[in-house]
Amino acid sequence: MQTIVIAGGGAGGLELATRLGDSLGRHGRARIILVDRSPTHFWKPLLHTVASGKRDPQAHEVQYAAQAAEHGFEFVCGEVLGMDRHRKTISLAAYRGDNGIEMLPARTLSYDRLVLAFGAVTNFFNIAGAAEHSLTLDSVWDAEHFHKRFLASCMQAGSRGAAVNIVIVGGGATGVELAAELIHAVRALARYNVHALDPERDVHISIVERGDLLLPHLNPRLSRRAARHLASQGITVRTSTTVARVEPDAVVDAEGTRHPSDMTLWAAGVEGPEVCAAMGLALNRIRQIIVTPGLQTLDDPDIFAIGDCSSYVCPSKGAAVPPRAQVAHQQAMYLAEVLSAKAGSEPPPFRYRDYGSLVSLGPFAAVGSLLCSNPTREMLLGGVAARVLYGLMYQKHVMALHGFLRMAAQSLAHWLRDKVTPPVKLH
Ligand SMILES: Cc1cc2nc3c(=O)[nH]c(=O)nc-3n(C[C@H](O)[C@H](O)[C@H](O)COP(=O)(O)OP(=O)(O)OC[C@H]3O[C@@H](n4cnc5c(N)ncnc54)[C@H](O)[C@@H]3O)c2cc1C
Repeated sequence: MQTIVIAGGGAGGLELATRLGDSLGRHGRARIILVDRSPTHFWKPLLHTVASGKRDPQAHEVQYAAQAAEHGFEFVCGEVLGMDRHRKTISLAAYRGDNGIEMLPARTLSYDRLVLAFGAVTNFFNIAGAAEHSLTLDSVWDAEHFHKRFLASCMQAGSRGAAVNIVIVGGGATGVELAAELIHAVRALARYNVHALDPERDVHISIVERGDLLLPHLNPRLSRRAARHLASQGITVRTSTTVARVEPDAVVDAEGTRHPSDMTLWAAGVEGPEVCAAMGLALNRIRQIIVTPGLQTLDDPDIFAIGDCSSYVCPSKGAAVPPRAQVAHQQAMYLAEVLSAKAGSEPPPFRYRDYGSLVSLGPFAAVGSLLCSNPTREMLLGGVAARVLYGLMYQKHVMALHGFLRMAAQSLAHWLRDKVTPPVKLH
């Protein structure tokens, strides 16, 4: 019986493990092993809501061990450090608990076929001081850390009467979504009178973007609409502004202008994590693993890569597919079919279908576009309708993992919870 190891249980890896567990693992047709450095999965596109305090990550996380037991795969907790391609093994670091005590020793794991799904990390583009003085949104830990700093800053602003400046570098989806959520969080904190905050006077949020428009991947009409919406909420948008360096208390642009910043969030791009380089596979210039139309690595047909850690160039467009959950989901569906197929059958190439993109502008608005059957015709969306569709993206992910009934039950439970708890975490 062959062993398929999936390294990384994010948007792509966990869905793939669940599908392969259901189709092969449950029926004893293959051994499916999912490896992740964390014991729980949290869907990354929701991280900005953890950072603002709107969402409690524990209520939305999936415990890998429980998912594995229900769907016929095994879960191994540990950080992948490297790989021996000739022995067909990957090496895992020792697993330590929160108190630093070693719970599992360093190990190796054998595979017949390996899928790498490590995701991506923040790219600081070697900008001076950016890595040292900026916060990021790469993990639940980062988002919770941001939230704690945000609450502490609001508390100081409310008590001292000195405004807190939050600068978000990068006007893509992450930066825009975070800014919109933060302004609602500030208002909620002020409403609860927690820190005697005056939202307009005490908290200044700004987005700094190098390009001349926010959300460059969207239709320019939507970008302008998003910018108007943010401005109406009191958020300062500085486009055509290139960050030259980050200091502990400021962001300095290429013109030499200092933008005071008590908290700087860097959301200007992503790159493959360092573990990609340790794999000894062909990489592109932002450390993503280059894959063929069958999502196989260039160096080894038994090793595949999906999601943000991989670089797949769409033959029809001649450009790499973007680092998005939509791509990771489609690649997981494709590989689940390919790896479940009988040996000897020639798989068709992976084809990415772009269904459009939606960006949240807080709890009640979003902008985006839907690409229907004719990909050159896009339907532009905004307001509440777009926000409802945006919410459905997460439900789709939950449904892929747990099925319709459990997704519906969970949605109801979260809706009820939201009705009886404050709209943001107050501590
Ligand atoms: C704030 C934010 C908002 C976003 N919004 C959207 C959106 O609206 N729409 C959209 O399509 N996309 C969005 N994205 C992008 C989307 O989250 C990613 O494209 C998607 O999660 C990629 O899936 P993945 O499976 O490649 O990696 P991830 O979901 O990042 O998962 C990677 C997994 O690998 C594990 N891992 C990493 N390194 C190791 C290691 N060495 N050993 C073991 N395990 C490891 C991690 O713990 C993690 O579980 C957003 C991202 C962010 C940060």
